[in-house]
Amino acid sequence: MSVSFPDLLAQTKAGIEEISVTELQDRLHSSDAPVVIDIREPDELEGGQIPGSKTVPRGFLEMRIESLAGSRDAAIAITCAGGTRSALAVESVRRLGYTNVVSVAGGVGGWSRAGFELEHPVRLTNHDKARYGRQIILPQMGEEGQKKLLGAKVLCIGAGGLGCPTSLYLAAAGVGTLGIVDNDKADLSNLHRQILHGEDMVGTPKVDSAKARLSAINSDINIKTYETRLDSSNVMEIFSGYDVIVDGTDNFPTRYLINDACVMLGIPNVHGSIFHFDGQVSVFNADGGPCYRCLYPEPPPPELAPSCAEAGVMGAICGVIGSLQALETLKLLIGAGEKLSGRVLSVDALTMTFRQLKTRRDPNCPVCSEHPEITELIDYEEFCSLNA
Ligand SMILES: [Zn+2]
Repeated sequence: MSVSFPDLLAQTKAGIEEISVTELQDRLHSSDAPVVIDIREPDELEGGQIPGSKTVPRGFLEMRIESLAGSRDAAIAITCAGGTRSALAVESVRRLGYTNVVSVAGGVGGWSRAGFELEHPVRLTNHDKARYGRQIILPQMGEEGQKKLLGAKVLCIGAGGLGCPTSLYLAAAGVGTLGIVDNDKADLSNLHRQILHGEDMVGTPKVDSAKARLSAINSDINIKTYETRLDSSNVMEIFSGYDVIVDGTDNFPTRYLINDACVMLGIPNVHGSIFHFDGQVSVFNADGGPCYRCLYPEPPPPELAPSCAEAGVMGAICGVIGSLQALETLKLLIGAGEKLSGRVLSVDALTMTFRQLKTRRDPNCPVCSEHPEITELIDYEEFCSLNA
């Protein structure tokens, strides 16, 4: 005996339990929240999905439900676009022994029409999988790590000696939103170390030159530029929303401002500095580790801090330190390895010696201790600028 599809659907729905999108919304905020399994095809997911839902195409549901839902008495709500495929799917998984499973009447379309929030998780396209394949294959990265990078927001302070190599590697690795702060114009004397800028960009703002070069390497990411000098009036607004700040600045006032803003906003600060043939890298304000002021509570007196234009620097040391900053940033974003928090790595390129100094959080730190003296941002007088 054969039946028409409408009859089959009506019979199926009569034999299973359905819940409305409003009931689902209520249950998701209760203690017996079900696992929501969205069985739409990958190309249907673009418009968003119910927050927290797990996705599996209908054809793989029975094969994968155990890993998605766990035990056979787990509360499960199956959803699709409109509630038809999910009703048929509920009947099928009940035959596998799942007893507490319902179909979401109206599906994701109904959820959206009811005005409930949709989530837009990062998805890897085939293009992404090909592009980032050589890092996705790393066990510490995987597809999950790559999704984290694509969903991440990193802000590089300075498009100079350090910001150039750091931002190049971060863009190439697929950090989804990359911000660049700089208010200088590219100068001929920058080109020996600032590898984002070419001869044709001399005289143009470094943020424009940086954006052009980074977009040429990776047009899939969002590059935001801030052609401004950081100070106490704009730093909090610019930093807000970023996951990691990369300090590639060349002067003490900005370095202290970055540190204090990162502490106040709770954002990790990947610090780098260079001098002659030497460089230093560390990660501040991460995992309960120290901040920059725990090590250096106050800026040095101006006479001890010559400008970088006077100090001189080898171009390639910027590449070493900037690349290390990029590595630390990527590790922070994907949660891999041991961070340089609580350690300062010093590089002496003349003797080619890498040394580590252990550092500790200062319980009396002026900014990150429990009772800080510094509770407002300070604009120190400028006394070391690359183009001074
Ligand atoms: Zn501190």
